[in-house]
Amino acid sequence: MICGPIVGMNLHTQNIMFGVGFLLNEKSGSFEWLFNSFLISMGGKQPVTIMTDQSSAMDKAIRHRLCTWHIGENAIVNIKGVMAKDGFKRRFDYVLKYTDTIAEFQHYWNSLMTDYNCKTHKWIERLYDLKEKLCPAYNKEWFSGGILSSQRSETTNHSISRRLHKTNGLCDFYKCFLDVIDEWRSKENKGDYNSSTGNRYYACADNMLCLHARDVYIIAIYLIFEQRFIKAIGLRCQRISYEFPVSKYIVGHPTKDFIRHVVKFNEQEMVVDCTCKSYGKIGVLCSHIL
Ligand SMILES: [Zn+2]
Repeated sequence: MICGPIVGMNLHTQNIMFGVGFLLNEKSGSFEWLFNSFLISMGGKQPVTIMTDQSSAMDKAIRHRLCTWHIGENAIVNIKGVMAKDGFKRRFDYVLKYTDTIAEFQHYWNSLMTDYNCKTHKWIERLYDLKEKLCPAYNKEWFSGGILSSQRSETTNHSISRRLHKTNGLCDFYKCFLDVIDEWRSKENKGDYNSSTGNRYYACADNMLCLHARDVYIIAIYLIFEQRFIKAIGLRCQRISYEFPVSKYIVGHPTKDFIRHVVKFNEQEMVVDCTCKSYGKIGVLCSHIL
């Protein structure tokens, strides 16, 4: 039988187990059963984002995002020759994972295809057709917690399978499964403790904004905030318009950013918004806004 764990992320960005199902095969009907059962167990509340591997059977069963790690692994098999070329892998990874806007994705994708002359490769053509399911730039409106891959589920498979043998039965599996959950809960407790004591070194110890962020965020999320705050120091910001109550700014790194983002600040409603939509994706202000 195939073990299908459904793994999410807790407030400390650690793994959390939502459930596990056993499938007889990897046909679309089996996945439909798995996801419907999951939905029932969650009281009908649908997840905003599900990361999966590049399986066509799963594609028929649900609307989902594709795991960038699996795409990388498939690329090694399907476009071995191109992947081996100098610099291709680094640029391919960047296009799939780190482009912030559709325009940026298109720009870097086209230049990659031209530079390595691989646009007409069948696997690459198929991948391009799936761009809306794999690229963060096309999914900015949806909360994803910053997850790009189904690696969390793969890690679960690994931590369970390394404790079991092929001859073990379901009872053995259940015991082992509980051990893994215990381990994860213990890590979560440790995260809670560390967050409540707050005994760590901070890069921006006395900055008032960071002091406030430390009050409202737990440590794991504060560190993401702090990283963005530091990145913001290197960005250039220019006000391009002001029409009460909204100011518009263009923000970006003077040499590194191909696309500069537009930040809108409504001084009456005290609402700020950025075209990178990072706040909606992971719930932390982006470096452009900061
Ligand atoms: Zn932004």
